[in-house]
This record gives sequence, structure tokens and C-alpha cells, in this order.
Amino acid sequence: MVKLAEWRGKEIFRAYGIPLPKGQVARSAGEARALVERGEVPLPCVIKAQVLAGGRGKGGAVRFAQTPAEVAEAATAILALEFKGEQVKELLLEEKLAIERELYVSLALDRSLRLPVLIVSPKGGVEIESVEETEILRLPIHPFPGLSGYEKRAAARALGLSGALGRALDALLDRLWEIFAREDAELVEVNPLAVVGPGLVALDAKVIIEDDASFRHPQYAEIRDDRTELEEIAREKEIAFVQLDGNIGVIANGAGLTMATLDVLQQFGGRPGVFLDLGGTDDPRKVTEAFLLMARARPAAVFLNIFGGVTRCDTVAKGLVEAMKQVPDRERFPLVARIRGNNEDEGIAILREAGVTSLRDLKESVQAVVSAAGGRT
Ligand code: GDP
Ligand code: MN
Repeated sequence: MVKLAEWRGKEIFRAYGIPLPKGQVARSAGEARALVERGEVPLPCVIKAQVLAGGRGKGGAVRFAQTPAEVAEAATAILALEFKGEQVKELLLEEKLAIERELYVSLALDRSLRLPVLIVSPKGGVEIESVEETEILRLPIHPFPGLSGYEKRAAARALGLSGALGRALDALLDRLWEIFAREDAELVEVNPLAVVGPGLVALDAKVIIEDDASFRHPQYAEIRDDRTELEEIAREKEIAFVQLDGNIGVIANGAGLTMATLDVLQQFGGRPGVFLDLGGTDDPRKVTEAFLLMARARPAAVFLNIFGGVTRCDTVAKGLVEAMKQVPDRERFPLVARIRGNNEDEGIAILREAGVTSLRDLKESVQAVVSAAGGRT
């Protein structure tokens, strides 16, 4: 999965002829100011953090400015942000348009239907997950012919667009479909799609390229915007480490157990954050590195779910206790462990001695970690 930053998505949009606000990328406050001073981006303008997480609008990562001084100020503030664990390094500056309405339009791959779906909603500008189902139109699309006339008309009706705006939508949907199909995307999302005078303008772009098709698109293989800083470090150290939105860290071994652990946490009301898969290792050096990486993500609590098969529970426990000693105070978190299998009694004893809540039952341990994380973010 290659998730593209907004500006990269918009470069694709531009290449396919989708209407966009005039804009440029900047990597420092000075550069941002120079762009407006030279008139490359008209004032007033919008300054947007180029991070992959959504909800920037609400999170202070999208700001408006009227003057070059305000641009520099906003750029400085946004570049200082760590937005949902991601340091902001790039900004997109765009002319500020007078928006009449904000709509939602996307093409996504629905894995359960095994088809692309066209999703539209008149309630754009907020995350689609928070929109009432009755306000969303979802149409499965046959992948060979692409969007038909009646599907596009149904979308226009759902969005309340007619006349010139209806025709603008028709053209836009054709372009989006071309992107989706030719670029092998699994998601092409425009949220908001803005009604600006007689036209439609894509104010945001979220494009995800299907990894399995990357051999057809070598240009995307180079882009690794979708790895967070910690994920990048983990990759270099060959640790399987993924950052999600939640606040509970998960350490497990084996992909199957790791995935199942995330599901169970979710089922008991927990929100999984960073998870890492120790795989078959009990190498104390590797366990320590993984654990320190986990700490840097500042989880509210960590759940350790280990099955000792080839790996021995006592060796993993020893490695963890050693690793815990190296975690700086400010990065400490409550730890709940469930460790079963080979040498489990020894493992549990070692952990308990180090003050780790160590339980055998899955449900009990999951409940313990969910409550340990409760109220902390
Ligand atoms: P997201 O919150 O991360 O999805 O970021 P968006 O790119 O969707 O921007 C958030 C919000 O900023 C949008 O829903 C708009 O309300 C607002 N916004 C972005 N660009 C413009 C613009 O050119 N003019 C105006 N008035 N508002 C804008
Ligand atoms: Mn958006």
C-alpha cells in the first residue's frame, strides 16, 4: 500500500485534468513566505500540513493567512507540529477559495464485494466515517466498462448537483475513474470536493496505490511517505512495526497472534496503537530494540502477548525486563503481559518479580490493559 501525501495526489489530479486550487509545496517558513511574496500562491491562502493522517482541519494542521507575515507565522506553527505521531516536514500552500458547499466523492476498492465502489455524500469536509449512512450513496462499479451514465446521474442527484455543476461532476467522475483504473489505486478520495461558483474544485486529495501493481508503476515504489519515522527506523532494524491511531501498544509474536490480539483488544473497547511482531526471535538485543522503539511511540499502556513455541517464555521475559530498565522515565507505561507456552512458569515469575502484571487468561489480560490505558491518551 502506497499512501500518497495530498500534494502528490494532487499532482496526479492535475495530470488528469481535475480542477484544483493554485498551489505550491514549501519545506520551511521562509520558503512559504517567498511563495506568496512572489505571487506564486495568491493571498489569502491556506497552509496545510502534508501528513498522512486525516482530520488536519480540526487538528490545527490547516490554517489560513492574509499576509506574508501571517503565512510565515502559520507555517512556523504547523512545521513545529507532531501531528498524530508524524513530524510535519512539508506544507502545501494554496489560494483560499470561497467555498459554497463541501461534498464527498471517492472511488474505493471494496474487498468484500470484490468490486470498486463509487461513494458520494453531500456531507463533505468531515471524515466519511462520521457521516450518517442515510447521507451516503454507495454504488458498486463494474470494473471493465467503468462508470456508466446512470451511475454518474445517480451521484449528481445524491449530491444535489444539476445544470453546469452536474456536467462538472460528470467530467470529474470520468477523470477520477481514469486515475483509479490506470494508476491501480485502491482509493481515490476527494474530501472536500468544493462547489466554487459554477465549478467543482478538489480541495483535498487522498490517493492510495495498490502495492501488488507497483511493478507497473515504478515511480510510486520510491515514495515512502506512508512510513512514519519510527516505522522507518524499525524497517532498518528489521523489526515488524506498524503505527496505528490508538493508544495501546501491542507486542506479540507471529503475524497470526499479532492480528488476533489487535482484534481482541478492539472487541474489549481498546484502541490498538503501535504493534510489533517479534516473529520467532527471543534474541535479547532485538527484543530490547523493539521495546525501546515501542516506548518512543508513547503508548498509554502496552500489552505483551507471547506464545512460547520455539521461542522460550523465560528468555523473552528476561529480554523484556532488561529492556524495561533502559526506557527513560518520561516514556514509561504500564505493561500487562500474557505469556504462554514453553517455560511459561519461569517467564511469568521473572515478569512478576519485575512488577509486570502477568496473567494467563486472554480475556482478563486484555481487560487489564484496556483499563490501564483508560483515560490516558
Ligand atoms: P483534512 O481535515 O485533513 O481532511 O484536510 P482538508 O484538506 O480536507 O481541509 C480541511 C478543511 O479546510 C476543509 O474541509 C475546508 O473546510 C477547509 N479548507 C481547505 N481549503 C480551503 C479553501 O481553499 N478555502 C476555504 N474556505 N476553506 C478551505
Ligand atoms: Mn479532507
